[in-house]
Amino acid sequence: MTAMILDGRALAKTIAEEIANEVAEFKQERSFAPAIAVLRVGEDPASVSYAKMIRRSFEKAEMEFELHALPETAGEGELLALVTDLNAGEDVHGIMIQEPLPQGIRAEVIIEAMSPDKDVDGVHPANAGRLAQVAPAGRPPGVSGYFVPATPAGGMEILRRHAVELKGKRAVVVGRSNIVGKPMALLLLRENATVTICHSRTVNLDAVCREADILCAGAGRAQMIKGDWIKPGAVVIDFGFNRLGDKWVGDVDFEAAKEVAGMITPVPGGTGSMTNVMLMKNVLEAARRQMAR
Ligand code: NDP
Repeated sequence: MTAMILDGRALAKTIAEEIANEVAEFKQERSFAPAIAVLRVGEDPASVSYAKMIRRSFEKAEMEFELHALPETAGEGELLALVTDLNAGEDVHGIMIQEPLPQGIRAEVIIEAMSPDKDVDGVHPANAGRLAQVAPAGRPPGVSGYFVPATPAGGMEILRRHAVELKGKRAVVVGRSNIVGKPMALLLLRENATVTICHSRTVNLDAVCREADILCAGAGRAQMIKGDWIKPGAVVIDFGFNRLGDKWVGDVDFEAAKEVAGMITPVPGGTGSMTNVMLMKNVLEAARRQMAR
């Protein structure tokens, strides 16, 4: 059996067009566009190219983008003052703080200084906490108005748009970071999957993966998950983005896995393409919420 390839790139293009239409409507009503401010300290190459990609997609949808690139020598106080300004600024609806931050700047202090209402990356403890406390689908929603990190939100959108049933399914998430693994596990739990979270201390990882109807990989280890770790027919969502020689590969050995899985995201062209559009969605949503107050 060869798996259905879940084309994140094509889906992201469709969603970007949907967002552009919604932005046009928003602008017609409000006479301004939803805006993101991206903050960076130093010139980490991955952060530089990610910011360029965000700028391109925001400009294409006619959303506003501003970059605040502070020099490597900037201190915590300077960054805190900038965050405070952006929290108060009515022309910025979403804030994204790029990591890594240089030594001497405590990421958790900067993140907590951000207004949760503008935390479009879903990293503020208030947003992470709300996601942890949300009621499962089908029950009265206890918690609302929170932001979910864009990468797992993109993974969920791929599942949703391909009508993958999650209720009662066995889901395994490899990785427990605050921006990929943990929120993905909570989102699957919200949809009534039975979720196991794995990490670097997990024993018999291969056997745990083999139990998964839905297998999500966010470990950052090139092709770590082998074809024979996958349950026949499973849906595989690969968040990994790793350099291997001269190419980019996921955490899953794609060539072997696609012969066993029912559906699988490729790398590149899978989850990575979706992250950007989910960030755009969050900024549009943030602008709407701020205007509704
Ligand atoms: P982190 O390094 O923050 O987290 C990696 C997680 O994987 C940790 O929980 C770690 O366990 C676990 N892990 C590492 N090695 C193993 C192993 N051998 N077996 C089991 N678990 C392991 O990474 P991120 O969450 O930031 O990113 C993960 C991957 O996703 C990367 O490849 C990154 O490039 C990619 N990524 C992709 C995005 C996209 O848009 N698709 C966006 C963001 C990231 P422990 O907690 O025990 O250390």
